[in-house]
Amino acid sequence: MTDQNINFIDVKSSLNWDEYFMLQAMIASFKSKDPATKVGCVIVDENNHQVSMGYNGMLAGIDESKLPWGKNTDVPLEFQKYGYVVHSEANAILHTSKSLENCKIYVTLFPCNECAKLIVSKKVKEVIYLSDKHRESEGPRMAKKLFELSKVKYKNLVPSPKLFEKLNLHFNQLMENL
Ligand code: ZN
Repeated sequence: MTDQNINFIDVKSSLNWDEYFMLQAMIASFKSKDPATKVGCVIVDENNHQVSMGYNGMLAGIDESKLPWGKNTDVPLEFQKYGYVVHSEANAILHTSKSLENCKIYVTLFPCNECAKLIVSKKVKEVIYLSDKHRESEGPRMAKKLFELSKVKYKNLVPSPKLFEKLNLHFNQLMENL
């Protein structure tokens, strides 16, 4: 009996889904060229399949060097990044034609009110965020109001302290086996 069962090993992934998708969102943020704030997100369906991803950036296909990346608000909007940058959530929503109804969005920074409008309109059911560092400002406060009125859940993901240690170990194992 023991011999037959020798390959039935108790296995589990060292990552839960929330951490897995938040890592994907963090990887997406890595692509942002914004010198101040890099944000990434992924949208995931009810089967934990990734539907879309995005990061904050200028419009696809235009020469970004012709537009300002600075955030100094002493000059008109025309000369600030805020006039041109598309947020990660808006990019992820723009870049898919699939239904987002009942999907979850994992995002590294709590959404602003403009992205919240899109998230609510697309009937996304939950927002999972890493940071809410702008919680005192108007945008995220308005976003929370919209989420509460439309019953979109939101929760803060606190990655386990061992997450990056595990990731590092995993990468090292991958690289050892090249
Ligand atoms: Zn936004």
